[in-house]
Amino acid sequence: MPKLFNINKNPLIIAGPCSAESIEQMQTVTSSLQNDRRVSMIRCGVWKPRTRPGGFEGYGVKALRWIATIRKELRSPIPFCCEVAQPHHIELCQQYGIEAVWIGARTSVNPFLMNELAAALRGSGLAVMVKNPVTADTDLWQGAIERILHAGITDVAAIHRGFKVYSNSDTNPSTTNNSRYRNAPLWEIPIELKRRMPGLPLLCDPSHIGGHRQLVAAIAQRALDLHFDGLMIEVHPHPAEALTDSQQQITPDTLTSLLDNLTIRKDLDTAPAALAMLREELDELDPQLLDLLGRRMRIAQQIGEIKRENNMPIFQPGRWEEVLQRQMDLAASHGLSAEFVKEIMEKIHSESLRQQ
Ligand code: PEP
Ligand code: MN
Repeated sequence: MPKLFNINKNPLIIAGPCSAESIEQMQTVTSSLQNDRRVSMIRCGVWKPRTRPGGFEGYGVKALRWIATIRKELRSPIPFCCEVAQPHHIELCQQYGIEAVWIGARTSVNPFLMNELAAALRGSGLAVMVKNPVTADTDLWQGAIERILHAGITDVAAIHRGFKVYSNSDTNPSTTNNSRYRNAPLWEIPIELKRRMPGLPLLCDPSHIGGHRQLVAAIAQRALDLHFDGLMIEVHPHPAEALTDSQQQITPDTLTSLLDNLTIRKDLDTAPAALAMLREELDELDPQLLDLLGRRMRIAQQIGEIKRENNMPIFQPGRWEEVLQRQMDLAASHGLSAEFVKEIMEKIHSESLRQQ
């Protein structure tokens, strides 16, 4: 059987509702999505991980029966995937002919559960996607994927769905969340995962990152610009009436125009000459950056020695404030943003303190 997930098919599109809500909803969405040949798999949540009890927790086996019925009615059945969080979910998915499953962000965070799921998936024939854990931890995500790979599953992909970051609005609802995203994308984490596991297909879930339908297209484009291998997008026939994630789901028509407007960039076999020249320039500059940083650290060490001899504290808030402010004021004249310069200076400063 050919793999469902690979890094050559460009890009893989998975779409469908956050939750399976009725057979009619699933029939409508499946037939619309099947009409768009770019969609190669349908998603839907059957068991829903809710943050607080009392909400809609999914129709479970009843929803799996709807899917089985719909598949029988289709002439060429498109693969379906849903979320699994417990070993018995896996058995049920197999029983009802689901081709692929994903492990959600609240599950991939737990190594015990990942071991149990990996054991249940062994030999199941299911393709498996592993969403990033809710916490911004590349090792934990990689570990969850490795547990699946070590169980002998070969059709595997990672899904980037963004990270829960602390915001004041969690404790004080009157302050607004600084992040405009439901889950911060922290793109450096999926990029690092791709560096560590280059053969692993990497998909992006712009719906759960954005949390709002207006943001989905831009995040999807960003993911493709960053060389992601595909997208998982929440699509509902009537998003405003959805039982879960109603703010972020889009209609099948909106998905079609989103896909029409995506720019799919391609790698060239040989880089254009101008690009090669610019890369050479960067390759010369990068070691110079390290040279400057090394010189700065050695001076910081000498300063540390003088402070020690004179019994002075290592950290002097007034002096640090001056240095930071000066650099931030200079940022614009170098074409840099003050926030970027602040972040770099803070990293450099904390290393200086460590070395002193
Ligand atoms: C979902 O895909 O509907 C879902 C609950 O995902 P996540 O685990 O990313 O929150
Ligand atoms: Mn959802």
